[in-house]
Amino acid sequence: MEYNNFFVIAFFILGAVAGSFLNTVALRLPKKISWIQARSRCPHCEKTLAWYELIPFVSFVLQQGKCRKCQRRISLSYPFTELVCGILFAGAFFYFQFTPELIFALVMFAFFFVIFLTDLRYYLILDRVTVPALLIAFLGNLLLGKNVTSLLLGIAIGAGIFLLQFFLSRGTWIGGGDIRLGALLGATLGWQQTILALLIAYVVGAVIAMLLLVVGKKTRKDHIPFGTFLSASGILMILYGDSILKIFNTWYF
Ligand SMILES: [Zn+2]
Repeated sequence: MEYNNFFVIAFFILGAVAGSFLNTVALRLPKKISWIQARSRCPHCEKTLAWYELIPFVSFVLQQGKCRKCQRRISLSYPFTELVCGILFAGAFFYFQFTPELIFALVMFAFFFVIFLTDLRYYLILDRVTVPALLIAFLGNLLLGKNVTSLLLGIAIGAGIFLLQFFLSRGTWIGGGDIRLGALLGATLGWQQTILALLIAYVVGAVIAMLLLVVGKKTRKDHIPFGTFLSASGILMILYGDSILKIFNTWYF
């Protein structure tokens, strides 16, 4: 097998394992269950799961998507998060190879992925996730030699746009979590990609919200987990932000 293919597959497996872990973290953090010590359990019958029931995909397929004890369905979100994280990790290796940027990308994926899941499931953007992520993103980017002004401007834009909405709506549209997530985007991406990430999140979020209204899954009073769109577009920017900006630069500047 070619050297590169071997590592793409290795990173896919690493990502699937990471996805399984991050899914558990995202399920436990909002409930204040210790996320390292307690063993994983079946959410229906509370059976403690053995190691062979926790292998990404493999366990799900072998058990035909059911708990071995109570036979009730295991949520599809497990294989889904494992697959997505596997693809992201493999993609990151494909793109960055063995560089310091690869480590930065994988660490930030982990943070954004947890935010993606907690906002989607519980409408929560936890400070316990965004605040350490913000510090690590900023310090990591400094170590990678990114432009400090661009990072600070990114934080100002990312936090500013939500701060503005917060004041305009007197705190009814969005919460403090969105403001800190905006700052995190800025510290991760710098100012140009932060603007792109915000634009993509608003457009995709609006389209999906409209689709959900049309099919009647949501009403206008329902909350749309905007942090989910923001973190997804943050992940997209970590991978493709530079390429997208290059296209923009050749077209317009
Ligand atoms: Zn069970």
